[in-house]
Amino acid sequence: MSGLPSGLLDALRAERLEVAENAPLAAWTTFRIGGPAAAVVTVRSPEEVVRAVRSIAATGARWTVFGGGSNVLVPDEGYDGVVVLMRAARVQVFESDLEAEAGADLGRLVSASAWAGLGDLTFAAGIPGTIGGAVVGNAGAWGRAVGDCVASVHVLRARTLEPAVLTRDELGFDYRSSLLQTTGDLVLSVRLALQPADRKLLLRQIDDWLAQRAERLPEQPCAGSFFRNLPPARPGEKREPAGRLLEAVGAKGLRVGDAAVSDRHANVIVNLGHAHCRDVLALAGELEQRVADKFGVKLLREVRLLS
Ligand SMILES: Cc1cc2nc3c(=O)[nH]c(=O)nc-3n(C[C@H](O)[C@H](O)[C@H](O)COP(=O)(O)OP(=O)(O)OC[C@H]3O[C@@H](n4cnc5c(N)ncnc54)[C@H](O)[C@@H]3O)c2cc1C
Repeated sequence: MSGLPSGLLDALRAERLEVAENAPLAAWTTFRIGGPAAAVVTVRSPEEVVRAVRSIAATGARWTVFGGGSNVLVPDEGYDGVVVLMRAARVQVFESDLEAEAGADLGRLVSASAWAGLGDLTFAAGIPGTIGGAVVGNAGAWGRAVGDCVASVHVLRARTLEPAVLTRDELGFDYRSSLLQTTGDLVLSVRLALQPADRKLLLRQIDDWLAQRAERLPEQPCAGSFFRNLPPARPGEKREPAGRLLEAVGAKGLRVGDAAVSDRHANVIVNLGHAHCRDVLALAGELEQRVADKFGVKLLREVRLLS
């Protein structure tokens, strides 16, 4: 795979950026699936991100961003473009705010905020990935979501390649989504507004959430819930877990190649060792068909296929 415009790799190296050519992507995802990217450029500060993306865009090459790679599925044939691997990860704690570069590990932010006596983020304990990825997909658990805590986000606009600051109202947070998924803007850093709370209590809450997750999640490589939960039947009610429908259609135990439905959670597809992307997609298709046939419901995928 080497469809890159000539001179691009030299241009990135001239910017003193860390570049790997024909780089396997499976290792950068929690699914451990997929072929190589034409190149991976690792960026360690917002300035490096801007330099990298402007150099790539100037050549017309395709690019995308990986944070923790915990919500992506990479095709077997790989990606004919540049993956920007977000590793800018500086974190600063203020009186009741926390400022983090996009590549900061979400779990690290959860503990940093608790140790600083700042509440609101403990629900995210155990969600893998970076704060950038969490904001883009409005990651959440137990009825809360990261977008609830966001004050503002510093982005690089995909269209103009100029930086901008967007407030929470401009980010259009919804269930597992934000407007950033539509605009393609790249998150450089995030400001979270948090409420003071008792440190001991927060640390205990984190332990509780982690213990509950350990029981429910599989040990094999995966990308978390494969499908979105369904919208509430009536306003004010809770979402219907996709896992309940999947359980009812006999999802647990289904397998295509080394892709299988977890025996712990019917909405999680796991990689038993050597799963291919095509196996995962075939299994997902089978699950969607069964749910459509039995309930007349179209499941929507939460995991993002790199395309
Ligand atoms: C075991 C397990 C449990 C999970 N549990 C949960 C859960 O409880 N709740 C939940 O919501 N999710 C869960 N997930 C899914 C996943 O962890 C979240 O979606 C997470 O927020 C993704 O962050 P990431 O950094 O890994 O993003 P990635 O997977 O790297 O990227 C996801 C998408 O965001 C884009 N992106 C990433 N960083 C940036 C950036 N800086 N700027 C612009 N775009 C960016 C990517 O291009 C991609 O389209 C789970 C996953 C696993 C493996």
